Amino acid sequence: MLSLEDFEFSVSSNIKERGWTYFHHGAVKDLQQIGEGHWHAIVFGSAEYEVSVQMTGTSIDAMQCDCPYDYGPVCKHQVAMLYGIKAALDAGPGAVTENSPRAALNASEQLERITNEELASRLLARYPRRPAIKAELSSVFSRG
Ligand SMILES: [Zn+2]
Repeated sequence: MLSLEDFEFSVSSNIKERGWTYFHHGAVKDLQQIGEGHWHAIVFGSAEYEVSVQMTGTSIDAMQCDCPYDYGPVCKHQVAMLYGIKAALDAGPGAVTENSPRAALNASEQLERITNEELASRLLARYPRRPAIKAELSSVFSRG
């Protein structure tokens, strides 16, 4: 079973190097911890791929990527994502900029704390020129 500490020794050097390069070029986007040990990200390569990882502690229970790679158990997108998770965990909790690994770590916590009104006003502020999204959000949040 792979773990966050030793996955680098368990994948082929080719895949490891490509994953590392992806991570360092910022290919791992929207990295989020969406639940206990459950991570999700979009990794940009020749296309956008959705990668998810399920872990218990630092051991990796399951990983998924929707790319067509099937020459081995782990693809470069998954490796890139694992580097991203490592960086997020190393950075530790604490808010910094929106796209930093730390922010990713806190995203689910922040969503739990935030009120509906706060969330609505932040989302609305984000899409000032998109009336369709505004209308949609208003209808969602006016119910509560
Ligand atoms: Zn992949």
